[in-house]
Parts: sequence; structure tokens; C-alpha cells
Amino acid sequence: MRLADRALQISPSPTLAIDARAKQMMAAGEKVINFGVGEPDFDTPEHIKAAAVDAIRAGMTKYTPVAGTVELKKAIVQKLRRDQNLEYDPAQIVVSVGAKHSLYNAIQVLCQPGDEVILPAPYWVSYLEQIKLAGARPVIVNTAMENGFKLTPAGLSAAVTSHTRLLILNSPGNPTGAVYTGAELQALAEIILKHEMAVISDEIYEKLIYDGLEHISIVSLSPALKERTVIINGVSKAYAMTGWRIGYAAAPLPVASAMADLQSHATSNPASIAQQAAVAALAGPQEPLGQMVAEFASRRDYMLERLLIIPGLVCNRPGGAFYLFPNVQAYFGWPYQGKVIRSASDLAEVLLDEARVAVVPGAAFGNDNYFRLSYATSLKNIEDGLNRMAAVLAMIK
Ligand code: PMP
Ligand code: GLU
Repeated sequence: MRLADRALQISPSPTLAIDARAKQMMAAGEKVINFGVGEPDFDTPEHIKAAAVDAIRAGMTKYTPVAGTVELKKAIVQKLRRDQNLEYDPAQIVVSVGAKHSLYNAIQVLCQPGDEVILPAPYWVSYLEQIKLAGARPVIVNTAMENGFKLTPAGLSAAVTSHTRLLILNSPGNPTGAVYTGAELQALAEIILKHEMAVISDEIYEKLIYDGLEHISIVSLSPALKERTVIINGVSKAYAMTGWRIGYAAAPLPVASAMADLQSHATSNPASIAQQAAVAALAGPQEPLGQMVAEFASRRDYMLERLLIIPGLVCNRPGGAFYLFPNVQAYFGWPYQGKVIRSASDLAEVLLDEARVAVVPGAAFGNDNYFRLSYATSLKNIEDGLNRMAAVLAMIK
């Protein structure tokens, strides 16, 4: 049967693929340490689960408005005001099946064939595919480790053409953990405002931020930026709710309306029960979040400390999210069991086969000189995994 060109050009999500492979090995009895997927290992807090159970009992089992219940949209509007001092009308909020779906909707309604989308690399895997699915052309701008993997004004300026339609920003970022300061965003904003481009600001890791750093949304810099930016956020990361699938966008009204119309034909509303759980997450007690952030911070410190004593590995101290992104080029060119290691992908394969440690090679994020380790796993796993990694890497070089 013939598949559409659109289908033929999609690559499956490498992060989810690595997770699936690690889980398959675990199911077969292997003791794999999974630093692959970015998913909090904590359980969803009790009061959030209770809200979902209550919703089922109360019969909230029917279709809701396509873009989300009035209650959830209100909770999101209040969250944006409380945490970020941003004013939105409920009509500007669209709730979707995870932040990934929110991004998909936004890119679909903003981009078309002939458009260029500026994507700073290393980038999260799904942006690239979603840009291509909209028929637009990704314009990848490499960022440097020395600049904390952040897009510079010079990098942005050099990438802009008359076809530029959109810039994707992600702070705190996946896979590097980069956090943009207000001044850095301001410098980018000056260039953005000189052109016709829109911005997607993916703020899914907003709450997972360390060392007293502050999350700043580019939207907060000026009304003109608010007019052309779509904020993407959700409950997956901050509230350990990856499986519930609730994400949302806050956008200029015409964009929000178009996203809701698209969604009305694709999925309709996200699950009514998960929406009630998201209300409890956003409007309820925030203490569980504080505990998770403190735990992530100490895991980051420990994993980084262990990583940096492995000869040859170089790694920034990330300010947010839950990933480390070390440069592993020191291991390239050395043979292991008769095969020369030439990339982070080769090295990741050795680590999975020999150390039973799953990591995501940087090829997935546009730079195969690095790999990504998620520290959204227990300290014990981090200790075991780093012991195993160090032992195998010591045999290579
Ligand atoms: N953006 C980034 C940068 C992410 O890492 C993720 C995690 N998969 C998402 C969006 C999507 O999150 P969700 O699980 O809510 O779809
Ligand atoms: N954001 C996570 C990651 O990058 C989840 C996996 C995915 O959705 O691709 O690992």
C-alpha cells in the first residue's frame, strides 16, 4: 500500500525508541539502568490522583469543550498570573493531549510550505519532525557549549531570511538544561521584533530550575512580544504527570482559535478526567513540586560530579530540566572490541550492550559529539549507572 510522502519522511521519536529498547531488555531480565527517557520517576502526588478519582465518581466522563474545561482554563490563567505575572483571557488558552500536542497544533497553524523555522541546536527531537510535518523548512542554528548552548543574537541574525516565519525557544532546555536570562532574551527580542517572525516559547521545564535561577518567559519582556508568541507548557514534568497527557498553549487569540479548530477535527478535548487532575495540580498545594525540585537538584549535583571525574568527559552545569549533556569526543577514534567508535551513537551502543546503561546519543538532538543522560531516576541508579559507565569507558581509552 502506498504511504503519503508526509509519512515516509517521519523518523520515530529516538528518545521514546531508546526507552522502549531499555524496557524491553529489562523485561527480558537484564538489569539496565535507564538514563534514556526524560520522565520524572516520582509518582503523581496523591491530591492530584484524588481529584481524578473524584471526577470519575462525579460523572465527568463526557466530552468537554474542545480547548479545555472552563475550570482548567481558569486555573491556567491564574497560574500564568501568579507565577509569571502574565495576563491572558481564557479564550487564549488551548488545552491539548500533552505539550507535544500543543506544539504540534501551534506549528501546524503557524507554518506552511515555503516557510523557514529557526531551530537552535541541540534541540528536542520532536520540533524537527513537527516542522517538517507542517511542510516548513527547519533552519538549524548550532549553539556552542561555551555559550551555555544558547542562541546568540549573531546566530539568530545570520539565520533570518525573508522566509523566516517562526523561532523556537526552549528554556529551561532539553537536552542541555540551558536557562536564558532576561538580558539574553532581550537581546534576541530586539532582532525578533525587526522581522515578521512568530515565537514558540516552550516552557515545559519552567519549574525544574536550580541554583536560584529564575525562569523568564520572552512574553514578559513586552506587549509586542506577547502579540507574536505562543507559550507552551503542561503538567507532565512539574507534577510527574507524563501519562495523563495534559499540555496547554497561551497564544494570541487568532492563533488560539485556529489551534482549537484544528484540534476539534483531530482529537477533540483531552481526557475530561485528566483535565480535572490538572486543575488540582495547578491550583492545589505546590509542596510536592518543591520536594521534587530539591531532589532533582541533588541528583544533578551528584551525577555531574561523578561524570566530571571520568577522563575526557566535559560537561556544563545545567541550570534547569533534568538532563546532563556531556561532550564525549575524547572517546572517538578508539577501538572497542574491534570496532572504532566514531560518534556518540557508537558510544551509546557500547554503553547499552556492555554496561547496560541507556543514554540518548546527541544525533537525536542535532549534535552527535554529545550524549544525554536523564537524572530523573534514583540516586542509587545514578550511582550504579555511573559506576558501570566509568568501568566500560576505562576499557576504551
Ligand atoms: N517539550 C519538551 C522540551 C520536552 O522535553 C517534552 C517532553 N517530552 C515536551 C515538550 C512534551 O511534553 P508532554 O509530555 O507534555 O507532551
Ligand atoms: N521529553 C522527554 C524526552 O525528551 C520525553 C520523550 C519524548 O516525548 O520524546 O526524553
